[in-house]
Amino acid sequence: MGEDQVAHVEVTREIARRFNHLYGREPQFEEKAERAVRNLGGRNSTLYRQLRRRFQETGDTEALASARALVHSNNRITVADRERLLGFLEGSHLSILPEPQVLLTASPRVPGLDGRKMSKSYGNTIGLREDPDAVAQKLRAMKTDPARARRTDPGDPEKCPVWDLHKIYSDEATRSWVNEGCRTAGIGCLDCKKPLIEKIVEEVRSFRRRAQEFEDNPELVRSIVAEGADKAREAARQTLDDVRRAMHLRAD
Ligand code: SF4
Repeated sequence: MGEDQVAHVEVTREIARRFNHLYGREPQFEEKAERAVRNLGGRNSTLYRQLRRRFQETGDTEALASARALVHSNNRITVADRERLLGFLEGSHLSILPEPQVLLTASPRVPGLDGRKMSKSYGNTIGLREDPDAVAQKLRAMKTDPARARRTDPGDPEKCPVWDLHKIYSDEATRSWVNEGCRTAGIGCLDCKKPLIEKIVEEVRSFRRRAQEFEDNPELVRSIVAEGADKAREAARQTLDDVRRAMHLRAD
């Protein structure tokens, strides 16, 4: 996921929190949750308590994820206890709708050709299926650190959008070659872009090959979409069942 999507996840978290707050109330919740912790069994109970404390005291989301995994993997507890234990991790009510966590990709932001956010409306994009020669040309013309007006001017990669792409595409050796060469004017901007252009053009070629396979086989695309829709429908049905149960609505 890229950082653009974080706000959408936050809206979903807010809805889940609100719903759980309104419909997850249960008389004597804390006592029941404590009993559910004991039902996890000796070492698992201790581990659950440690992870819960870590999350509640320091906001450690890895501890939260581990505690959730611990609860889900335990087959000895009832469904009701599972919901109590999940809810007890974060508050004092049942967790009917889980709060999704943000999982960012290693490079949460891909810059556009001008260093701004990549966007069609800015005209600074590289298309996934664009002609490889056109992609190479766009990258050759890509903006760099304005301090490098001449080949002999040293620059600063941190002020250059090309460097952001190196962080995504280049290995450690290439990155240190860029860092050193840019700061000492040992390399020119076109030298710097060359390994990047090779990598990106190769990637675009492979996207095009892959896309062509699907274009040649629309039946395959339809079956992938249908399979995905079936999975989504089943997950939505289960969630709606949970929601109706919590709201005491009958599913007719
Ligand atoms: S050498 Fe590379 S990192 Fe430095 S300004 Fe030129 S393109 Fe950017």
